[in-house]
Amino acid sequence: VLHYQPKINVSDRSVVGVEALVRWNNPEHGLLQPDSFIPIIELGDSIIELTHWVINQALVDYKMWEEQGVNLDVSINVSTLNIQDEKFVSDVNKILLEHRVNPGKIRLEITESVIMADTKRAIKTISDLDFMGVGISIDDFGTGYSSLSYLKEIPVNELKIDKSFVMNMETDDNDAVIVRSTIDLAHNLGLKVTAEGVESSGALELLDILGCDRVQGFYICPPITTERLVPWIKKWEEKKPSLVVPINKDS
Ligand code: C2E
Ligand code: CA
Ligand code: CA
Repeated sequence: VLHYQPKINVSDRSVVGVEALVRWNNPEHGLLQPDSFIPIIELGDSIIELTHWVINQALVDYKMWEEQGVNLDVSINVSTLNIQDEKFVSDVNKILLEHRVNPGKIRLEITESVIMADTKRAIKTISDLDFMGVGISIDDFGTGYSSLSYLKEIPVNELKIDKSFVMNMETDDNDAVIVRSTIDLAHNLGLKVTAEGVESSGALELLDILGCDRVQGFYICPPITTERLVPWIKKWEEKKPSLVVPINKDS
């Protein structure tokens, strides 16, 4: 099943999109988190099928929210094998056409390690996706041991600062410096920047001062089911000035 975590525009606190996060509703073990099964699936070809399922399901849900008057960008995580798959771009195009969704409404999240695994191939796939109009985000930015030179060659729209830096930025000066430098780097390259892992009002305020564009985190909303998303957005819009609508994790 897919759960969705809202993504907020910092300047006006509006909901601009969601990130699709997969869970496995296992009959024996209950709701399993992706870290417990994605790394295993990524060892084989099944990750290709899983990503197709995720994109397809996310677009089914996108249409459902649209019918309820809510228009959101949807971010989807993709793996190394997808980016190396020669059919990936045409498969994404096919799914978008089937659901009649504008490519600009989806954003694919790719980690630096996916790019480093085969940079030439990654540049080709990402350039083709960009040509189609699909958005590209660099996920977990700052955690890979990669050179930054790929940022000049790849048509990226957004950097996502990894939660490991954001969660401790109020108490750890080094993390705060990394967050601030990443925001400046992104803006100097003409990119948007999202901070994930915002767990407190203090972190949100700090990110606002530093000029971060968008945020995600438990302080705003944890990943929730598709049915709960539109009611949550309606509540958020009503309560925007007070900023938080408490909700249990993964409920
Ligand atoms: P990610 O892409 O970095 O996703 C963000 C993770 O941070 C999510 O964990 C989310 O629930 C969690 N998170 C969000 N806000 C906060 C916060 O304020 N504090 C803390 N501590 N955590 C927060 P989740 O859902 O367990 O996903 C883990 C990873 O699994 C994802 O990391 C992503 O790499 C992978 N994943 C999830 N769905 C998919 C998918 O459909 N395909 C692929 N290939 N990977 C996926
Ligand atoms: Ca992600
Ligand atoms: Ca991350």
